[in-house]
Parts: sequence; C-alpha cells; structure tokens
Amino acid sequence: MTHDLVPPPEAGGVLTIDLAALRANYQELARRVAPAVCAGVVKGDGYGIGLVQAATALWQAGARSFFVALLSEARSLREVLPEAEIFVLNGLFAGTEPTYRDLALRPVLGSVPEIERWRDFCASIGQALPAALHVDTGMNRLGVSPTEAINIAEGRDELGFPLVLVMSHLACADEPDHPLTAQQLEDFRAVAALFPDVRASLSNSAGAVSDPALHFDLVRPGIALYGGRPRADIAPLRPVVRLDLRIVQIRNVHEGQTVGYGGAHTALRPSRIAILSAGYADGIPRLAGASDLRPGAEAVVGGHRCPLIGRISMDLLAVDITDVPEFAVEAGGFATLLGEGLGLDDLARHSHTIDYEILTSLGRRYLRRWT
Ligand SMILES: *Cc1c(COP(=O)(O)O)cnc(C)c1O
Repeated sequence: MTHDLVPPPEAGGVLTIDLAALRANYQELARRVAPAVCAGVVKGDGYGIGLVQAATALWQAGARSFFVALLSEARSLREVLPEAEIFVLNGLFAGTEPTYRDLALRPVLGSVPEIERWRDFCASIGQALPAALHVDTGMNRLGVSPTEAINIAEGRDELGFPLVLVMSHLACADEPDHPLTAQQLEDFRAVAALFPDVRASLSNSAGAVSDPALHFDLVRPGIALYGGRPRADIAPLRPVVRLDLRIVQIRNVHEGQTVGYGGAHTALRPSRIAILSAGYADGIPRLAGASDLRPGAEAVVGGHRCPLIGRISMDLLAVDITDVPEFAVEAGGFATLLGEGLGLDDLARHSHTIDYEILTSLGRRYLRRWT
C-alpha cells in the first residue's frame, strides 16, 4: 500500500476518503454550471462516504443548498450545518411536519396530498413555511403532473406557503442525446414558466455536465462529486475513494483446479492466488470475480493489475497474482481494489452494476479514513 499511514494490525480493509478531492470536484462543477448555483446531494450517507464528512467538506467548498432523501439524514445534516438550506426529497410523511418546522427543513412536495398536508400544517401553526415542488416530467417516480402544476400555479394565492424551488428529475441524461432528455427539458421549461419568481432545478450530475439549457437556477449533482462517471462519454472528476484490502494468504493452485464457491473459475495454468479480506458483506459485488464464462474486475497487487477470480465470498475474495513477481507481494500486505488507476466504474462494469451502487454499498467493516 502506497500510503503514508500504516493501518492497525487488525484492519481487514482500509477505505480512504479524499475530502480535498470532493471539495475540488464541487468547485469544478460549480465553475462549469455558473451562473447556475451548484447544490450538493448527500443522500445515501453521502453516497457511502459519510453524510457528515461529505456535507461538511461541501460546505467548506461553497455549497449552501443540500438534498437528502430522508428526514433522518436531514437531522444529522442540520446538526453540523446550522445555516444550510436542506431539502428532503422523499416526500412529506404524515406526522413529520413539526420536525420540518423545528429544524428549518424544506420538504420537497411531490403529490397533491403532500401539498395539502403542508398547507394544513402551516395553517394550523399560523406560519407560512417554505417548501419545494417536485413536478414529474417523465421519470414517473415522484412529483405532481404538469397538469397538476398548472392548477397549483393558478391557485398560488391560496397555497398558504411560499414555494422556494420548483424541480424535476432527469431519467436518461447519462446517455447523451437520449430523446427523453429533450422532452423533459421542454416540459420543464413550461413548468418553470408557471413559477417565474421561483428558483428552478432540473439537473443531476449528468445534466450538470451537459447542455447549459438544462441547468436552470440550481443544479443537484451527486455522483460526479464523489468521483463517479456523470455520463457514459464523460470522464469522472477526481477519485474520492480508495480501497485497500489485506492479503490474508497466498496459495498455489494446480492447473485444472477451481477457485471458490460453485467452482466457477478454473485455473488454466499453475497459478498463485492471493486471498483478500473483504467480500460481499463489505459491498464487493458477488459477481465481481471472473468465471470461466466471463472476465472479472481487477485489483492492483505489487504494482500489477490482477484479475479477481471466482465468486466473491461473504468475507473473502481471490485474486490471480501469478504474473506478479514473488518479491513484490506478501501475505499481510495490501492489495488495492479502488485507486492506483482502478476506478469505481471498473469495478461496477465487471459486476453488472453502476458506480452509484458500488459507492453506496461500501462496507461498514472497513477502517475508514477521511483525509
Ligand atoms: C439522487 C438525485 C440527484 C443526484 O443524482 P446524481 O445522478 O447522483 O447526480 C439529483 N436529484 C434527485 C431528485 C435525486 O434523487
């Protein structure tokens, strides 16, 4: 392992989170989307790297508006960022209204019943508390319909609370030129025009690195901040996570023998394999290893890229290190699964998943270091 600090003897895996890279990624995106404002999406425990650490770093980098999915996440965020504007995406659950008031949080209202619930709550306490309106333009997940948005706009005077953001969410912006993006843009333009005095927001990371027409007033990047690939054809910003795994032992395998559960991988030559101390219980996808039918992801061992082989176990995985010189690797040392040129999308692609899922599944058993 090429870093400075020697991990404690008991560490099986070491997750190093580069908060300077996170800050730099925020500043880069903020620069690219200006004059639109750049928010920070920190749901999913800050995409797996730690909500509090991520949000604090983003605040230091200049972010003032944040999006979380759940009220529990908003509560943690409020504790560390008393001044931040915090939006809660997953809707206004009945009975949670007083918490929004007490913590000065902004619900993202995505259905007529939610709007009515907020209006009634505001009336009952005699305060007009700000909220955001989510309008669906093609995701078919959350949000009122464009027709409902027209009704809401026409009844603005009776709404009973101020709208401070009108937003929608892109479904396919990670695929350049996907026709749904143009359709959503057109529909969202019409929606935003209904609320000319309210900030408008449409773009996730993919939208943030695409046509500036998608930016409106506020962009909501998540994955790009954390070093994921915002769009299939656009390189990631700086990597934020690095993952090093302990080499438990090194073994020899005869030609024709199989490795791991199900005998899914057969050694085609006399091989040396390293067994690493992490598995699917730590968020390494079970299908990340090569089988006889398809290639797998890679690890860097002793400076060499080596394939993961066989099915990933719960707590262990195997790497073929036959091509690594014997002096370059030893049991007790570390191999790198993320870092040293291996990106999130390398691991994701070979595991039939996406970098979002790799990040947000990063295990709780790793020794975590924020630098
Ligand atoms: C998760 C999410 C985002 C951020 O998406 P990325 O693709 O990670 O940039 C933005 N807006 C909404 C509504 C989301 O749910």
